[in-house]
Amino acid sequence: MAEQDHNYDMLVLGAGPAGLAAAIYACRANLRVLVCEEKLSGGEITATEQLDNYPGFPEGINGMEFGQRLEQQALRFGANIVSGSIEKVVLDREWKKVITTAGEYRGRTVVIATGTRPRSLGVPGEEKLRGRGISFCATCDAPFFRGKKVAVIGGGDAAVEEALYLTRFAGNVLLVHRRDMLRAISYLQDKLLRHPNVEILWDTVVKEFTGEQKLEGILVQNIQDDSVTEVRVDGAFLYVGRIANTAFLNSVEMDASGYIITNEEMETSVPGVYAAGDVRRKFLRQVVTATADGAIAAMMAVRYLQ
Ligand code: NAP
Repeated sequence: MAEQDHNYDMLVLGAGPAGLAAAIYACRANLRVLVCEEKLSGGEITATEQLDNYPGFPEGINGMEFGQRLEQQALRFGANIVSGSIEKVVLDREWKKVITTAGEYRGRTVVIATGTRPRSLGVPGEEKLRGRGISFCATCDAPFFRGKKVAVIGGGDAAVEEALYLTRFAGNVLLVHRRDMLRAISYLQDKLLRHPNVEILWDTVVKEFTGEQKLEGILVQNIQDDSVTEVRVDGAFLYVGRIANTAFLNSVEMDASGYIITNEEMETSVPGVYAAGDVRRKFLRQVVTATADGAIAAMMAVRYLQ
């Protein structure tokens, strides 16, 4: 392919709701757009069984289907999507450069929409038993635990939502939370607290995952009285927060946790570089705010190019 074929008006890093919304808006404004994604289009929402709070879908929509629809819409307006992981970016010049495992691309503007990934606990047994009973995706792995006992670690929206999903498969769901109240929104909390197959271990942290070939239990500590007990479980689902996918960045201003700092117009500290979706420092991380960020970033890029 000729070098100039790798030149775009806008490079979008990440094909989640933020990145694909940016691509849709930019393509509709006649920009030449390339979206780089290392996994599936749709981002993290593809690991959600049911997206229930995106306006316009009164019955909810499956996360994977939602991701596919976003991709189809971006393709319909002419977006190019390549599959590859980002190795390096050079952003602080007129033509910004993105080097991926699929090739090297240049763009006059860049929208960073790389999202977040699950945080791990960093306790003994976690690495060894990952994929052998320890999972970060209930939608993917819940059917393996039909009738069994599973633990869900965490107290946020993701932990509670996925614990509720797991009740459809597992015989017992044990939610292990480090405090005495949940962080999740009250709608989800109420559903969880009322569920007959859910037990909650409050004020409790996981010290170790036990088992050799597969997960057999969790060693938990009550932080009020320091007592340690082993609870037998067949599966453990970790939802203890997320980490921004920004390790490849150097010239863009970020906060102490690695989230990109933008203004209301999604502008980063580098001219022509925007951030959208979960990867930026923001109040509400939802699909609806991610797509809104993407639209704003794209229209700011259009203005920048003019
Ligand atoms: P989150 O809101 O940051 O919650 C993380 C949970 O893990 C918290 O309960 C936290 O405890 C706990 N935690 C963190 N580190 C821990 C550790 N080392 N040991 C034990 N527990 C630990 O993360 P999230 O639930 O993944 O959600 C991420 C974002 O996506 C949020 O903005 C959320 O609103 C959004 N989201 C929304 C929906 C929805 O609207 N349906 C669904 C999923 C996610 P503390 O509470 O004590 O801090």
